[in-house]
Amino acid sequence: MKRWITETLFDDLGFRMTYEVERVLYEMQTEHQHLVLFEHRFFGKVLLLDGATQVTTKDEFIYHEMMTHVPIFAHGNAKEVLIVGGGDCGIAEEVLKHKSVVRLTQVEIDASVVEFSKEHFPEFTAPVLANERFDLVIGDGMNYVAKTNRRFDVIIVDSTDPQGPGKVLYSHRFYAACRRCMTKGAVMVTQNGVPIFQADELTAGIAKFRKLFADGSCYVAAIPTYVGGHMAMGFATDNAKLRRASVKTIADRYRKAGGFATRYWTPEVHVAAFALPRFIAEKVAKARKR
Ligand code: SAM
Repeated sequence: MKRWITETLFDDLGFRMTYEVERVLYEMQTEHQHLVLFEHRFFGKVLLLDGATQVTTKDEFIYHEMMTHVPIFAHGNAKEVLIVGGGDCGIAEEVLKHKSVVRLTQVEIDASVVEFSKEHFPEFTAPVLANERFDLVIGDGMNYVAKTNRRFDVIIVDSTDPQGPGKVLYSHRFYAACRRCMTKGAVMVTQNGVPIFQADELTAGIAKFRKLFADGSCYVAAIPTYVGGHMAMGFATDNAKLRRASVKTIADRYRKAGGFATRYWTPEVHVAAFALPRFIAEKVAKARKR
């Protein structure tokens, strides 16, 4: 009998997604969370933390490219980039495709996630950990942004969901501390859940952005294993022009960056991602009035 592993993130909604497991590759309770990695015949390697899907070999490119190339090309001149979370290094690998980025710092709370990613996601970790532009800090992202004297042009919050160690990364305190270490006109993007199931998470996030930044909104992409249709990625900046850049502007920046290979992100997809379906646009508008 094959084992089935269940995502329990939406138990309170009476909804579960279950994977038939070919082989469990790794399972442990770390200092911070429950971690299980297994092989699935369609999605390849699948990582769950505390019962929530984090990354799969099959669809990782969508989330990693959209969390990386949208803020960096929207900014247009990012040199210093910070990733909070990002354990598997999938986003770091995308950031380092931007040769204009002088330094990338990743602050990850759980060393075991990076350790086991070295063995199981070498396609991410090998190029990243060998790159001299990359700094890895093991620690709580909240403490880091509260104390660092560094300043960042782009902050990418690739966190778990608002449970366990990831909860603080959705707080006003955290966003205020991020704003403190952002350069003028910098941009912060966040993993903000799937609006159809996690509407409150989206509106709460946008409302907090609005209290701290001139412009707080989101963009969307559909990631099959972040079940629920569109996933929202929070976008916070004091430069309200950033998310209104034209396809031509983004295409010019992409060409200048060498036109590196992508599988999901394109200049057209970038601009279209900010055209929100009405039910999401209404939630964002509501959040703005809070
Ligand atoms: N893409 C995934 C998602 O959307 O659910 C997230 C991937 S990544 C694996 C999330 C990482 O955030 C994990 O490695 C986790 O250990 C890390 N993390 C959670 N809370 C953190 C905190 N307070 N500070 C730094 N990293 C944290």
